[in-house]
Amino acid sequence: MNIPEVELPRVVVIGSGFAGLRFCKKINGTKYQVVLLDKNNYHTFQPLLYQVASSGLEPDSIVYPIRKIFKGKKNFYFRMAETTEIDTENQTIHTSIGSLTYDKLVLATGATSNFFGMQNIEKYAMPMKSLSEALDLRSLIIQNFEEALNTNDLKERERLMNFVIVGAGATGVEVAGALAELKAQVLPQDYPDLDIRRMQIHILEAGPKVLGNMSAHASRKSEKYLKDRDINIWLNTMVKDYDGKTVTCNSQNFETNTLVWAAGISGQSPKGLNVEKSRAQRLITNEFNQVKGLDNVYAIGDIAQIDAEATPNGHPMLASVAEQQGGFLGQNFNRLVQGKELKPFVYNDKGTMATIGRNKAVVDLSFIKFGGFIGWLTWMFVHLMLLVDFRSRLVVFINWAWSYVFYDKGTRIIMRKVGRPETEDRRPKSGDRSPE
Ligand SMILES: Cc1cc2nc3c(=O)[nH]c(=O)nc-3n(C[C@H](O)[C@H](O)[C@H](O)COP(=O)(O)OP(=O)(O)OC[C@H]3O[C@@H](n4cnc5c(N)ncnc54)[C@H](O)[C@@H]3O)c2cc1C
Repeated sequence: MNIPEVELPRVVVIGSGFAGLRFCKKINGTKYQVVLLDKNNYHTFQPLLYQVASSGLEPDSIVYPIRKIFKGKKNFYFRMAETTEIDTENQTIHTSIGSLTYDKLVLATGATSNFFGMQNIEKYAMPMKSLSEALDLRSLIIQNFEEALNTNDLKERERLMNFVIVGAGATGVEVAGALAELKAQVLPQDYPDLDIRRMQIHILEAGPKVLGNMSAHASRKSEKYLKDRDINIWLNTMVKDYDGKTVTCNSQNFETNTLVWAAGISGQSPKGLNVEKSRAQRLITNEFNQVKGLDNVYAIGDIAQIDAEATPNGHPMLASVAEQQGGFLGQNFNRLVQGKELKPFVYNDKGTMATIGRNKAVVDLSFIKFGGFIGWLTWMFVHLMLLVDFRSRLVVFINWAWSYVFYDKGTRIIMRKVGRPETEDRRPKSGDRSPE
């Protein structure tokens, strides 16, 4: 890997998501040599993936080159590499470009879609955890309408124009809202010879509520917003199987060419870590983010679950948690070299929010819960500010303003043709999904 051997302790960080990036920004580069590894050469702003999938934003506006972020940082090295195995006994990691020893290892590898062992669903459904998956979904949505034009088989046309989303969490409702916007504003103009009113959007949720992790207020309001946009909500509905055409559920079946999987995620970490993991495959850590049972190995963000009485199920898998943990661990490493005591991580919950298309969002803050247009403005402002730099903010803002004023979405392009489910496994071939 050509990383120089120096006197400073070497910290290897795997993953340049919210947690890994913030850690690398905070750690003092004059006291440590920092090596950051990621399988991609960019950071992905996952909260806006659904807008790429629904033609609202170009991919470039929600990803950011890692090298640019750390331009000029001392003793910092980035390598684009997939970490395949960790040998904790010899303090060595093995990657797609070679091996490297570490003095301290920080795992920030995030999470991947969890299909709960349902192989057909993994094969045919469209998850949305990475940029390439969002681009696949975008292509498939537009492809469906191109194909719907060409068929006289009414059942097949219905299947192409039915969209089924599994999971009524924030991702599920955001995708549904964006599809409803396409249906109302864009598709009737693009496909005047198709009866777009026949397009159906269904959300299937195994639990009894929409946005089950948010307040009762947010849940109630979001359900109303979804129904106002003609989105069909099926609660207490458990998906059992999908053969690429029919979704089989506990109550009834749905015909669709597009099953969007927003129903579950689980931690992803390289092989070799023989330690306790949670039910969601997250690595159990103490309050100082140290992985239990391993020396010099730390975990932050979605991959980590702090074992503390106050958080028996860990912190939620959110960007805000990941960022805070990354920043906090960086500061703790700086304390270590000054001979100071480590501080335990405490999450500062700044609230959660979700948007349901144009003009509608729900916001839960500790002191107030609100929604509607003000909620939507709040959602947009917060997401703009969270983007990595001014250029991304400006590009996203211009796209949003354009689409608000002209009722238009600019990126309705089929870039990567997605195969018919009956003939092709839809799992990405790019190796974008990590090995379990
Ligand atoms: C569609 C969607 C919408 C979301 N919306 C919101 C929202 O509105 N608000 C919110 O707070 N959170 C939201 N989240 C959750 C949030 O994005 C995650 O909690 C956050 O990204 C976790 O950060 P992380 O650093 O732990 O992991 P990630 O951001 O997932 O980063 C992990 C990094 O590790 C890399 N990696 C993984 N394995 C390897 C390996 N073996 N070798 C090398 N590199 C590897 C990956 O390439 C990636 O860059 C959303 C997530 C999704 C998918």
